[in-house]
Amino acid sequence: MSTTGDGTRAVRAGLPAPQQYEPTLPGPVFAAHFHLSGEPAGPYTYGRETNPTWTHLERAIGELEAPGERVETTVFASGMAAVSAVLLSRARTGDTVVLPDDGYQALPLVREQLEAYGVGVRTAPTGGDAQLRALKGAKLLWLETPSNPGLDVCDVRRLVAAAHEAGALVAVDNTLATPLGQRPLELGADFSVASDTKGMTGHGDILLGHVTCKDPALSAGVRRWRKVVGAIPGPMESWLAHRSLSTVQLRVDRQCATALTLAEFLARRADVTGLRYPGLPGDPSHAIAVRQMRRFGSLVSFTLADKDTAERFLARLRLVDDATSFGSVRSSAERRARWGGDAVPEGFIRFSVGAEDPDDLLADVENALDEAVG
Ligand SMILES: *Cc1c(COP(=O)(O)O)cnc(C)c1O
Repeated sequence: MSTTGDGTRAVRAGLPAPQQYEPTLPGPVFAAHFHLSGEPAGPYTYGRETNPTWTHLERAIGELEAPGERVETTVFASGMAAVSAVLLSRARTGDTVVLPDDGYQALPLVREQLEAYGVGVRTAPTGGDAQLRALKGAKLLWLETPSNPGLDVCDVRRLVAAAHEAGALVAVDNTLATPLGQRPLELGADFSVASDTKGMTGHGDILLGHVTCKDPALSAGVRRWRKVVGAIPGPMESWLAHRSLSTVQLRVDRQCATALTLAEFLARRADVTGLRYPGLPGDPSHAIAVRQMRRFGSLVSFTLADKDTAERFLARLRLVDDATSFGSVRSSAERRARWGGDAVPEGFIRFSVGAEDPDDLLADVENALDEAVG
């Protein structure tokens, strides 16, 4: 399947070989335990460890993360379960871990947990590959690129080379890009981690996460952590996620194309500042993004004059939900400063572009902007 296009791969990903009178994608298997006589062996024994519905989904995600390569994927109940599985299973008391200081807003919570266990944590910004300067003696480097919500991009190949040289493993939070936008394992990372709550499943109705590794020993550590902590996805969510993956190329292509159109439109507005979209030529992230990304994502960020202008803009949008999260087929936007966790201005908007007709969406944004600033 390594030579097919992304769309072909997406619709077939993880499907079992055709079997007469069986469905194309087997339905969810609801089972706490499986028939098992004699010595415990075989793929399915107890539902916290393995489930056939996970297996299909894990193969599908693996085929998207690393087409034609032998990789192992472990699915989790949420993105944070996947993030924690890597960080908390690898780090030991006395180790040093390097995190981005502009990463996902729950990352500081993991940091607190790591520090409570006696793990040293250093942070540096994503932009300018600043994490390079924090690598000495580190055991694990955590990257998030493009960063969220700032949309800075770091050079994954360069950071991986330096981290491996320093003896550190590298994990990339690939939530924003999805494997269609960027393949961290191809760029040399040891772990590709994502919240599949976002663009991967794309309908805003499932929480899910995954970790993909090439090295079976690293994968075994992640799987063991899932068994210990039990942050397992339900069979129904796993099956829905797999079904959603079949349209990931359609969704992501549409979302990325419209995101660029929206960014180009916003770039012409004098009332919009701090516009960021890695796909926009001239964006500070663009030069690195084109070297390592295949699509630039569905998120556009920008700043309006102040909190009130931003709130008026959000209230006047008719096709865009005021909601957090991103990557859904339904556009959403939010004033990010309302959460307090990110270093952003009061008027900062994170806009997640959906699958609406681009003309409709642009007209809605233009109208809301005119009314908000006018
Ligand atoms: C949403 C998100 C997470 C956490 O995922 P959940 O599914 O909400 O637990 C982690 N990293 C990034 C970049 C995210 O956007």
